[in-house]
Amino acid sequence: MGAAGVIVFGATCTPHTSPIAFPYPDRQTWADRVDWTAARAESARTLSEYVQVNTANPPGNEVLGAAYLTDLFTREGIETTSWEFAPGRTNLVARLRADKPSEAPLCLLSHIDVVTAEPERWTHPPFSGLIDEQGMIWGRGTMDMKGIGVIEALSLVWLKRLGVPLRRDVIVLAVGDEEVDNQGAQDLADHHWQEIGCSQLLNEGGLGVKGALFDDLTTFAVSFTEKGALWARMVATGEPGHGSTPLPDSAPARLTQALERLRARDPKVTIHPQLQRFLSAVGDKVGGVTGAVLKSPWATRELAGPKLLANPLSAATVTNTINVTGFGGAEKPNVVPSKVWAQLDIRMLPGVTSKDMLVELNGLVEGIDGISFEVISDSPAVESTTDDALFRALLNHLQVAYPDAAVGPFVMMGSTDSTILRPLGVHAYGFAPFVFTQDELKGFHGDDERISTDNLVQGLKVLFGVVLETSALGGVQAAAATE
Ligand SMILES: [Zn+2]
Repeated sequence: MGAAGVIVFGATCTPHTSPIAFPYPDRQTWADRVDWTAARAESARTLSEYVQVNTANPPGNEVLGAAYLTDLFTREGIETTSWEFAPGRTNLVARLRADKPSEAPLCLLSHIDVVTAEPERWTHPPFSGLIDEQGMIWGRGTMDMKGIGVIEALSLVWLKRLGVPLRRDVIVLAVGDEEVDNQGAQDLADHHWQEIGCSQLLNEGGLGVKGALFDDLTTFAVSFTEKGALWARMVATGEPGHGSTPLPDSAPARLTQALERLRARDPKVTIHPQLQRFLSAVGDKVGGVTGAVLKSPWATRELAGPKLLANPLSAATVTNTINVTGFGGAEKPNVVPSKVWAQLDIRMLPGVTSKDMLVELNGLVEGIDGISFEVISDSPAVESTTDDALFRALLNHLQVAYPDAAVGPFVMMGSTDSTILRPLGVHAYGFAPFVFTQDELKGFHGDDERISTDNLVQGLKVLFGVVLETSALGGVQAAAATE
């Protein structure tokens, strides 16, 4: 349905005093004009088809996924551009323009690539896109993150179909290689960011989970930052020799000693003020003594701290983590090398630098000779402000759609393409308006990845509402109003 089919009510308007007020319908009216029965079937079908385009990375083959999206947008008359950042590896930009933009664009980002799958472990083949009798859509990428890609694309499509007048351009970005080297987002940042120029961006990174903290409670995390990542080697040097004679000053002996210190480390609990906001929201929903504890920063740290540390997932949100992820330097069992190393993946809370972590590491291994640290890569945490209209809209729309859920800001443990884009100044938030059960969550990078049609279409409703609130004018264009 184009703009001509839009019902315009009211007769007069006074553009100089109130250019976007009556007779323009309010933004909720736009959402009501979507044919949700059709949108539901279309969402499921589109995701099923997109999943069937195999973009498992490696090798990625994002050119195929980009072609699928280009067709979808072209059918709707939405302009797209795409380019290869490497052979067969494609980024795509679809743009809906505002007539007279008064704000920088809003970007909706997803990655086209998915992780690989082991078909023999799946109930239905991972690239089947099968929709079962319950409306469950099966396949790699349904959660991470073609499902989001589809609701982003369809939000743009519905803006276009309804002829919603915009106060800013809305741009859908679909990039390659998020799952391996982030080459797509890096290329976008290095060579195309200026022409895109969005001030706010939505991406993966937060979602709704049922029973994450309390059995019946759905928690909705919206991420505004990701922990910094310092990748390093802890190197031990020492006397080389023959394996038959253990020496206390050998490199492996020193490394073992240093690893013991790391294992015995007692990490400090630091609750980010925004994460405390989230815990308070949880406290509100839970009530009772537990609720009261979660609503107090002091009590959360002192009383709930040990509990948060006991669970590896929650521990990672409130501490700087040092994870030993591998070893190197050894050759033959009977040769003691002069140098061995442990590989470390260190994740830092916002405000903590790699320098701080290196000071801590050197302190931990103090007194052990021959230990040093080599930095492989260093990417500090960058925060997007939560004092932002888009961020507020995300929390509000989620709370309206899921009144019983606890909704709040969240520090994401892993990193996404937002890590590359935040330093460019864009306010980027991690937001997947879907709710998954603990069992469904296993599908992330695991087996039997799937999403229900109900979940998908609810997500589209929430996202479309957010896009309308943050990007649409109050209603129908002047041209339409005079028809
Ligand atoms: Zn992802």
